[in-house]
Amino acid sequence: MATLSPLPPPPPPEHSKLEKSRPPLQDKGNIWYNMCPMQEKLLIDIGRIEPDGADFDGEVDIIDIDEEFVHPFGGVRYNLHAQLFSNELLLRGHLEQDFDLVCSRCGKDFDTTIKVDDWVVSFEVDQNTLEVDASEEARSAILLELPNYPVCSDSCVATEGTFGAAAPSSALAAALEEFEKNQPKK
Ligand SMILES: [Zn+2]
Repeated sequence: MATLSPLPPPPPPEHSKLEKSRPPLQDKGNIWYNMCPMQEKLLIDIGRIEPDGADFDGEVDIIDIDEEFVHPFGGVRYNLHAQLFSNELLLRGHLEQDFDLVCSRCGKDFDTTIKVDDWVVSFEVDQNTLEVDASEEARSAILLELPNYPVCSDSCVATEGTFGAAAPSSALAAALEEFEKNQPKK
């Protein structure tokens, strides 16, 4: 009796490093934009706000920096409560943005989420105000939370020779700061 020989095992999958979704900021004809367009302004529609306030959440593409050591990806996710007081709009809530940063100790890049908890901002409004653009304020709040010397993990230690001269290590930066402080004043 003929026996079926077992099928050869499938070849192992090719392990390619997954590309992070980092859509080009300029190319608006990009298919990614057509499929899930992201707002580019954090707009608060005043007409939606009830006497006891209204919640606004979503994701906006407002962090436009793309530096050697700081790459944002995705958009700013926000979850805000808006309230109107006579001539003031008060926004309060949470903001967060994913970044690909370079560790200031070991020089490797790593992903992190910068969060702003309990963000509060207010805007002057009048009867004619239809919407308020909070993009700039949200952008600054996120950028302020970026660490000057990002570290990939608490246990990371600087490895000699792994890091280029482009960004100083935290120890070097601290030493420079100390040096400058101790310079005689003119
Ligand atoms: Zn590190």
